[in-house]
Amino acid sequence: MNVFNIERAFAQKKSRNWDKLFVCVDLHDCIIKGTYTLNNEGRELYPHAQEVLQWFSRRPDVVLILWTSSYKRPIREIVEWLRAHGIVFQFVNENPLCPDTQLCSFRQKFYFNILLDDKAGFDGETDWLLIKEELIRIGEWEQSDEGESADTFFGGRFKRAIKRIRATFS
Ligand SMILES: [Mg+2]
Repeated sequence: MNVFNIERAFAQKKSRNWDKLFVCVDLHDCIIKGTYTLNNEGRELYPHAQEVLQWFSRRPDVVLILWTSSYKRPIREIVEWLRAHGIVFQFVNENPLCPDTQLCSFRQKFYFNILLDDKAGFDGETDWLLIKEELIRIGEWEQSDEGESADTFFGGRFKRAIKRIRATFS
């Protein structure tokens, strides 16, 4: 089984010489348990979500896209809160790095390689660990740039993404 398209996505990246993989992640009942409050008061990360999302954040060839039907202020708050947990989403509900091509219009369905959403079968309680095990199995897990300090990590690579989200969701 090709768990959440992870094995195929990494294989295609290699065979087609792609620079990036785009990982689209739903918020409620996927990263955090749904609290049914506007600003996600009492939010709680699912087991292994932090570890796996940190790993994705630190991979220079992975772009995390938050996929959520939240309102502006909760989006801004949750993006900042996740960043404080070492998880960096570069875009929210869009992928401006993949513009339209001759064959494809991405205006109404933006491009991504991996989708993690409880409505698409993801189970927050069990599947973050499943993803970690899948990444270990296909030999990707250890290749993360673990040596980079948090300062370099937040201050440098994601400056533009952070600014863009702050401007859009203020
Ligand atoms: Mg959901």
